[in-house]
Amino acid sequence: MTVVTRFAPSPTGLLHVGGVRTALYSWLYARRMGGRFILRVEDTDRERSTEEAVRVILEGMAWLGLTADEGPYYQTQRFDRYRDVIGQMLASGHAYHCYCTKEELDALREQQIARKEKPRYTGLCRDRTEPRPGVQPVVRFRNPTEGTVVVEDLVHGTVTFQNSELDDLIIARSDGTPTYNFCVVVDDKDMGITHVIRGDDHLNNTPRQMNMLRALGATPPVYAHVPMILGPDGAKLSKRHGAVSVLQYEEEGYLPDALLNYLVRLGWSHGDQEVFTREEMIAAFDIKDVGKAASAFNPEKLLWLNQQHMMRAEPAALVPYLKAQLRRLGFDSDDQRLLEGIIVSQRERAKTLKEMAQNSRFFFTETVDIDPKAAAKHLSGAGLGLLAQVRERLAALPHWTAGAIHGVLNELATALGAGLGKVAQPVRVAVTGTAVSPPIDATLELLGRERSLARLDAALRSGSAG
Ligand code: GLU
Repeated sequence: MTVVTRFAPSPTGLLHVGGVRTALYSWLYARRMGGRFILRVEDTDRERSTEEAVRVILEGMAWLGLTADEGPYYQTQRFDRYRDVIGQMLASGHAYHCYCTKEELDALREQQIARKEKPRYTGLCRDRTEPRPGVQPVVRFRNPTEGTVVVEDLVHGTVTFQNSELDDLIIARSDGTPTYNFCVVVDDKDMGITHVIRGDDHLNNTPRQMNMLRALGATPPVYAHVPMILGPDGAKLSKRHGAVSVLQYEEEGYLPDALLNYLVRLGWSHGDQEVFTREEMIAAFDIKDVGKAASAFNPEKLLWLNQQHMMRAEPAALVPYLKAQLRRLGFDSDDQRLLEGIIVSQRERAKTLKEMAQNSRFFFTETVDIDPKAAAKHLSGAGLGLLAQVRERLAALPHWTAGAIHGVLNELATALGAGLGKVAQPVRVAVTGTAVSPPIDATLELLGRERSLARLDAALRSGSAG
């Protein structure tokens, strides 16, 4: 049997980490099992669905590399199919027209509440044979009245529902439009879904969906209801906690692999391994190992993992991400050697690619604005004298390499009986504008002879003028 999973987001809010984790689990399971993964946009709620939300789903999934083998399908493009199935269910007796008015249903509800009963539709129209003039009926599914529905959930274990607790669900509104739970059933059947992996807020829909699938002659898929993600404070994850559009993580300089790694580990583990490549995740993941307790989102850990992934990546693989961040700052560079060099020399000091780009502006500007505090400390008096000597020796170097530059600084430090830092600091401030930067020898090599010397000269001029 080929495993077929799906991610079925409703585009009523912007895709955030909660949805991404569900998508990831579905995708991983399909990849792990050599199966297929389908993307289906559940946009039947036309009032609350937005194009922006659809865009975030498509772009977000593409950015994350959660590639679908089929889709995207859109439920709004399948209304003819839903109408046909409703017709079939009416014909077979699995569904019936219900003419109860809103007022009648409200009254029923009030009586039930007054009797301390659970409000539910009691099946008044189940056996009605004649239409009621002047009333546009809804269509209800004829749910079995006896017995149980047993969900063998891969995360929650066996969950049993009594059919007597489930009332007859409306599958088509009086205007003929199908309802959400019904569309899911038709789609899961038509698309041959074998494993439904979704948020556990849908667990209560499952017995009704299983009954409808059986009525349609289908075997229900296997279900796995995964727990919610909570905010660090234990409350439901909200915007306040970073439940923002997934694309914001791209903007903030996170790597897709780091975000996926973070999310896979929320509620799933594999020994005590923390850092996973995509391939390692695929090889190790099993939906059965996902725990049922909700987990809290921890932005610090995500940051840590992001840096771990930056440290382990091939520098060339990070170049496109760094370039995108630099472009946001107004720098367009195609200098592969420089970009890779920046990555290697900066990644110990940056947790995100955005931070790396910000720390690397000085590589792309013509001149640098020098931080006045750093200038006062390192580009005055003795600092200036040191800088002049460094400048002279550097200018005489036959080869502009980090090794040769290091040699110059080292020799001078030894000759002066000073620490290397003392010699390097004025240089650092002069070329980068601040007292913090990657190793100065690598920085100068990357910056190039001409620009490095020009910056030393500029610092010497403004130092002696000031
Ligand atoms: N569209 C539903 C949601 O976004 C998911 C339904 C499902 O996976 O069955 O919550």
